[in-house]
Amino acid sequence: MIFKQVFDQKSSTYTYIIASAEGREALIIDPVLENVEDYIKLLTELNLKLVKVIDTHIHADHVTGAGKLRDKTQCVTIMGEHTPTDAVEIKVKDEEIIKLDQLKIKALYTPGHTSDSFSFLMDNYLFSGDTLLINGTGRTDFQNGNSKDAYNSLFNRLLKLPDETLVYPAHDYKGEKVSTIGKEKKFNPRLQVNNVEEYIEIMNNLNLKKPVAIDFNVANNLKLGAEL
Ligand code: FE
Repeated sequence: MIFKQVFDQKSSTYTYIIASAEGREALIIDPVLENVEDYIKLLTELNLKLVKVIDTHIHADHVTGAGKLRDKTQCVTIMGEHTPTDAVEIKVKDEEIIKLDQLKIKALYTPGHTSDSFSFLMDNYLFSGDTLLINGTGRTDFQNGNSKDAYNSLFNRLLKLPDETLVYPAHDYKGEKVSTIGKEKKFNPRLQVNNVEEYIEIMNNLNLKKPVAIDFNVANNLKLGAEL
């Protein structure tokens, strides 16, 4: 397996390139529009063929590179079945398996940050989108976000994975690159709650600013960023 984690400075987004060393098929999770040429250069250098691109959810803080990658490489675009966009070609269901040569990536429906949020699990690599961040969790105050759903996605789903599962989030603002389910259970301040009410209380009192350009980003992400 070939694995690359690429950081976007402007939006603090992590994009993941996963590929099969044998068949040379590649998949990208959460690409950022401005970095599409860099991904293509990297894929060429590694002699990989991009076949699939996934967005974990409709992002508010950057425009996806999915549409541009599709147009440039003829890869297939994938999102979870609850995505509000019709521009995506394949909508996967909870527990559905996405194949990449011999690699298997399982889709996990983990709503809460947004109502369309999915996470993706490949062996012990969890791509947690904005559902679970390192020492944090995705905010729940826009795009049909829901703190109760987020609690369920975290406590009844992602935190039930084995402790050694590697956590690769869609963002990090402090330079952290990877964590584990075990570490997050122990140290993530948002997860030190006794019940769903306590979690909702925390999330209701974050007092976060509305992200810059959310309306522009969401509108373009509904078109997979293809018209920019
Ligand atoms: Fe997000």
